[in-house]
Amino acid sequence: MQVLKTKAAFRAARAGFGDLGFAPTMGFLHEGHLSLMRRAKTENGAAAASIFVNPTQFAPGADFDRYPRALERDLAMLEGAGIDLVFTPDAAEMYPDGFDASIHIGGVSEGLEGAARPSHFDGVATVVSKLFNIVQPTRAYFGQKDAQQAAVINKLVRDLDIPVQIVIADTVREADGLAMSSRNSYLDPAHRQAASVLYRAITAAKALFEAGERDAAILRAAALRILASEPLAQTDYVSIADPHTLRELDAVGPQGALISLAVQIGPARLIDNLLVG
Ligand code: AMP
Repeated sequence: MQVLKTKAAFRAARAGFGDLGFAPTMGFLHEGHLSLMRRAKTENGAAAASIFVNPTQFAPGADFDRYPRALERDLAMLEGAGIDLVFTPDAAEMYPDGFDASIHIGGVSEGLEGAARPSHFDGVATVVSKLFNIVQPTRAYFGQKDAQQAAVINKLVRDLDIPVQIVIADTVREADGLAMSSRNSYLDPAHRQAASVLYRAITAAKALFEAGERDAAILRAAALRILASEPLAQTDYVSIADPHTLRELDAVGPQGALISLAVQIGPARLIDNLLVG
């Protein structure tokens, strides 16, 4: 496994490979990340990962400084997953003096996380575009855990004709249903126990849908009721949205729905989602 810190070194190493799977990450890796790595490796001749805590996707005062980092451990995990190339730039390598570009994807970036975190998806779309240009992957792997990010990336490659095939992989969960996330490391034992309420809330809405309920307000209320039962949880939003446009629905039609939520559990703002229909 080669670990490259500069764009020039990465490009030179990449030239030695043909078709390449790629999974960008912010590090502090867990089984969710590794599921992307394993797919990237099995579905392509070679696989690359990046580890870069991207400052431009954090709002001022958000958790950029305390975001967990463990580079040596991450590299050992990537080596174990059979990754061939790892790109580990620093901020100056990605955003040298005079850097002045931003990519805005309209529509799907506007509600949900985009409303709660203004400019977050501009930061994501810009850094992912740069990573695609540097890494030149054949296929790129993202998690369903970040459903709106997946929608933004799909729109990015479609609207800008970027020749990369996007693959969205299932969310990997802990035994109690909590979606794995680097931010789960912020949780003390009491908050960690409370955090299972996210999955219980979305599965309650899903169960109602599967029993035939199509009124989005009733599905939303079912999730909110579960969230309200957990005193350590502060709900940001529960959304029942069109899975393609991410616009809020009044009623779930044949297109199905993305049930998603964002909840503050003590020091961690956590998100989760399920697709239904
Ligand atoms: P992050 O390091 O949080 O930016 O995540 C890097 C990639 O891993 C993104 O495409 C995420 O959607 C994906 N990912 C994060 N958590 C999970 C999970 N629990 N299951 C599957 N993919 C995940």
